[in-house]
Amino acid sequence: MTPAGLTLEHLIHRARSAFLGLAIGDALGATTEFLRPAEIRQKYKIHRRIIGGGWLHLKPGKVTDDTEMSLCIARAIDEADGWNLHGIAEHFAKWLRSKPIDVGATCRRGISDYIMTGRMEKPFSDWDAGNGAAMRMLPVALYTLGDDVLLEQCTIEQAHLTHNHPLSDAGSLAVGKLVQLALAGADRPQLHSVVRKLCSEHLKFHCKHYRGEASAYIVETLQTVFHHFFGTGSFEECLIEVVNQGGDADTTGAIAGMIAGAHYGDAPFPRQWMKKLDAKVKKEAFVLAERLVRLSPMGQELLRAEG
Ligand code: MN
Ligand code: MN
Repeated sequence: MTPAGLTLEHLIHRARSAFLGLAIGDALGATTEFLRPAEIRQKYKIHRRIIGGGWLHLKPGKVTDDTEMSLCIARAIDEADGWNLHGIAEHFAKWLRSKPIDVGATCRRGISDYIMTGRMEKPFSDWDAGNGAAMRMLPVALYTLGDDVLLEQCTIEQAHLTHNHPLSDAGSLAVGKLVQLALAGADRPQLHSVVRKLCSEHLKFHCKHYRGEASAYIVETLQTVFHHFFGTGSFEECLIEVVNQGGDADTTGAIAGMIAGAHYGDAPFPRQWMKKLDAKVKKEAFVLAERLVRLSPMGQELLRAEG
C-alpha cells in the first residue's frame, strides 16, 4: 500500500537524499574510523567537516567500500531491470579485482570464494556478525519499496554473498525497513517500532546493553546508529554525533546517513558536505536512486496512479 499523499517525485527526491546521505556519512566518518572518542576530541574538538585523511589517507570527499558496494548492487539492478544476484556477485568481483582501498575481511573472503567457486551463498559462520551486509542495504531498500516479502528475500540473498549470521540478517533487514518507512514519511514512533521489534527478537540489540562501543560488530554498529538517530533532531546533528563516536565510523556514518537522509531528506544538506562529496559518486547516486525507485513496486504503483 502506498501512503496517501506521497508522489513519485517526492519519493525519488527522498531516495536521492538517502543515497547521498549514505555517501556523506561514509566520507565524513572515514576521517575518524578506528579512533576513540577521546582521540577525536583531542585532534578535532568536534569532527564536523569532510576533510578526508584518516587511516586510509583519503582525499576529502572520497568514499569507501560502504558506498562502493552499495553502488555495485544498484548498478546490477539497473543493468538487469530487476533483481539479479549473479549480477551483484559479478559487480562485487569486479570491484574486488580493482583493488579498492578498503575491504572488510569478511567481504573479501565471501567475494574471493565466489570468484573461486561461483557459490553465491556462504555457509553460516560465527564470525559473520559484522556490519558488512547492513552497510550496503540502501539499494535493496529502494528497489523493494512497497513489498515486504521482496525486501526480506533480497536482503538475505545479498547479505549471504558475504555474511551468513542471524544477527547480520536481522540487522540488515531492520536497516532496510527503517529506510523504507522513512522514505514513505513515517514519524519517529513508527520508525522506533522497527528498533523495538528487532530488540524483542534479538535481545542483544537492546540499548540497555549499549556501552558506547561503535565497532564493526553489527550489534554495536546499530546501537550506535539508533542511539544518535533517535537522540538528535537533524541530519547534520545525527551524523556529527555518530562519526564522533569513532570506531567503525565510516560505516556507522553510512548507515546513519541513509536512514537520516531518508527521514530528513526534504531539507537541504550542509553545503560543505555537498560541495566536498566526490562528484562522480554524487552523480551516480542521483541517477541510480531514481532508477531503483521507478523499478520498485511502490514506484510502479505511483507511476500508474499518476498516469
Ligand atoms: Mn568503509
Ligand atoms: Mn568501516
